[in-house]
Amino acid sequence: MSLDNLPTLRAALEAHGLWAKKAFGQHFLLDLNITRKIARLAQVGEGDHVIEVGPGPGGLTRALLETGARVTAIEKDERFRPLLEDVAAAAGGRLALIFDDALKVDEALIAAGAPAHLVSNLPYNVGTPLLIKWLTGPWTPASLTLMFQREVVDRITEGPGEDAYGRLGVVVQATCRAQRVLDAPARAFTPPPKVDSAVVRLEPRADRPSSERLDALQRITAAAFGQRRKMLRSSLKALGGEELIVAAGLDPQARAEVISIEGFLALADAWLARR
Ligand code: SAM
Repeated sequence: MSLDNLPTLRAALEAHGLWAKKAFGQHFLLDLNITRKIARLAQVGEGDHVIEVGPGPGGLTRALLETGARVTAIEKDERFRPLLEDVAAAAGGRLALIFDDALKVDEALIAAGAPAHLVSNLPYNVGTPLLIKWLTGPWTPASLTLMFQREVVDRITEGPGEDAYGRLGVVVQATCRAQRVLDAPARAFTPPPKVDSAVVRLEPRADRPSSERLDALQRITAAAFGQRRKMLRSSLKALGGEELIVAAGLDPQARAEVISIEGFLALADAWLARR
């Protein structure tokens, strides 16, 4: 059996008696035209290694394999083992399967010292913690092409002065170039979720902040956006107040929502310098 001869995703789900489980955030993309589009946006191909989280019935997995890439897929729901083993058998050794919680796996071990790209239609319940793990942990992906609820993509891509700008956007944009590349309406999924989705592509910056700076950045943004309507001199009181803000070259009367990424990095540096 080759990839071309696999049954349709709907037929494969039926043949294995599988259905979507809410507890695992399962909303499937059964239209291969959409999964192929995501694979194209991921810009991967022959010779690349892709780590995919949550393959489920394997629609995105098939599209990634069609590009010629090698894929390691991490799935928490053991029910998908027989179905995904059929895809692996058709992929001629280019699909490795790991049945585990993606929050617990060590991607550095999976990548084995070579670059690897992350591509995923992320489970809604763990999407943000996974992203933070990939951007602030010890292992850096070559690129990330990720589908989230649209509201999360807004939070990732919006900048100072925009409604959804907050902690997540600061951490993502301090570590990556972020671009929203596709919108997907809820009806594209089976079963349809309550909200629309979008795909964001992230390219890690060569000058990514050190883990010490990222820890400081997370501490500062948690305090600043924890009270986003307050002036920085009040929200950052416990971390150094006016003195810290002036040392970072910022206005103590400004609010978190107007401070740029560079401004937050300056605050993180000023906080580190005072310790
Ligand atoms: N990639 C498939 C698609 O596009 O049709 C399925 C996407 S579905 C939104 C999310 C998938 O992630 C499900 O297959 C779910 O079982 C899996 N999943 C949920 N939590 C997970 C975790 N912590 N680790 C690994 N996989 C997880």
